[in-house]
Amino acid sequence: MVDPVVVVGASLGGLSAVDALRAGGHDGDVVVLEAADELPSDRPPLSKQVLAGTMEPAAARQPLAARLEELRADVRLGFRVESFDVATRRIRGADGTELQASGVVVATGAAPRRLPGPELAGVHVVRTMDDCLALKADLDRGPDRVVVVGAGFIGAEVAATCRELGLEVTLLEGAPAPMVRVLPVEVGSFVADLHRSHGVDVRLGVGVDGLEADGDRVSGVRLADGTLVPAQVVVVGIGVVPSTDWLTDSGVPLGNGVTCDETCLAAPGVVAAGDVAEWLNPHFGERMRVEQWEHAIEQGAAAGRRLLAGDGPGEPFASVPWFWSDQYDRKLQMAGRPSATDEVHVLEGSFAEQRFAVAFRRGDRCTGVLGVNRPRHVVQARMRLVESLDWAPIEELFS
Ligand SMILES: Cc1cc2nc3c(=O)[nH]c(=O)nc-3n(C[C@H](O)[C@H](O)[C@H](O)COP(=O)(O)OP(=O)(O)OC[C@H]3O[C@@H](n4cnc5c(N)ncnc54)[C@H](O)[C@@H]3O)c2cc1C
Repeated sequence: MVDPVVVVGASLGGLSAVDALRAGGHDGDVVVLEAADELPSDRPPLSKQVLAGTMEPAAARQPLAARLEELRADVRLGFRVESFDVATRRIRGADGTELQASGVVVATGAAPRRLPGPELAGVHVVRTMDDCLALKADLDRGPDRVVVVGAGFIGAEVAATCRELGLEVTLLEGAPAPMVRVLPVEVGSFVADLHRSHGVDVRLGVGVDGLEADGDRVSGVRLADGTLVPAQVVVVGIGVVPSTDWLTDSGVPLGNGVTCDETCLAAPGVVAAGDVAEWLNPHFGERMRVEQWEHAIEQGAAAGRRLLAGDGPGEPFASVPWFWSDQYDRKLQMAGRPSATDEVHVLEGSFAEQRFAVAFRRGDRCTGVLGVNRPRHVVQARMRLVESLDWAPIEELFS
């Protein structure tokens, strides 16, 4: 009997890999191991519509959830993988169950960073449906103030949703502008101004020293300069850590997540996809780990195809990442992979109008295009970027 392909993680990356395995003609057994007790929900609505109460939790289903039967995947929920050995391809669950795999897809995503200190009621992260519903329950109690620690995309979306619910919000960010680890400061400053224009108390360049408690419930956030910001609810959005603890002694190469080659292969018979995978993106000639919805689907599919290629060379996974973020009535969309130090060129509109498209330039390359309420511009630019990262065609497109 042939051993099953084992997929670890039943979210976007994992189930897309199963889809690609079946589409590519794999007829053997596929086992999907998932630590959560329920099939993971779609995550984007958790900081937006579900938190706002405009979407029922049951409607936040991930795209392949309805096709599990057709995919003939043996999904085992509540199965946390504890360890793996790359030489023998044996997988061990937290309950001691062992499985022998013919191939393995690592799709364990990432887990939110937390602030140090004891667990307190009223302090939240947002990754799972349970996280979202726990935060929503606290918001429904009408806190005087919500403090969001970290102005990355999730922090910024949660701040916007809370503000739209009519709550007082303080958004704290240690850097001089939101998102400056991944985007130039001009764009980060736009995001800060957007929140200020909606009445958020945005404080930049502030360190968080710790949380104050009243009994076992949070009562405020203590800043590094000694200031206390009172809060009944605190949302921590300070980034994520790739979920690789189960691979520590596995022999699978680890760095910033699972280290893969340009075909998403990490070791013979082992591929990785989604938030957990760092790979060499041949289109950019750079190693990257991308935490985005569409990317997890595309890379999951590429990883599934790579397993099917077996000992062959496999196809490189060349990608122009794309993502969106909804904040108030603004939709931010971005194609590409800029860095904080790239030049910013306004192609259309203006920051003042809160409606624009900008391109990021590094030498004679365009590293990405970001639009705010400019979907057509981003779609067109993405098509060009897929062909080439040359600056000239992007400039031409908008001249
Ligand atoms: C609140 C929120 C909002 C977002 N909004 C957007 C957006 O607007 N636009 C956008 O482009 N992207 C957005 N994203 C990002 C996007 O949802 C993620 O990039 C995507 O979910 C990654 O999919 P994944 O399959 O790699 O990992 P995950 O979705 O993290 O799934 C990994 C799964 O692996 C399981 N797992 C982990 N360890 C183990 C183990 N040891 N054993 C078994 N199972 C394990 C986990 O339980 C989890 O279900 C958002 C994310 C969040 C959290």
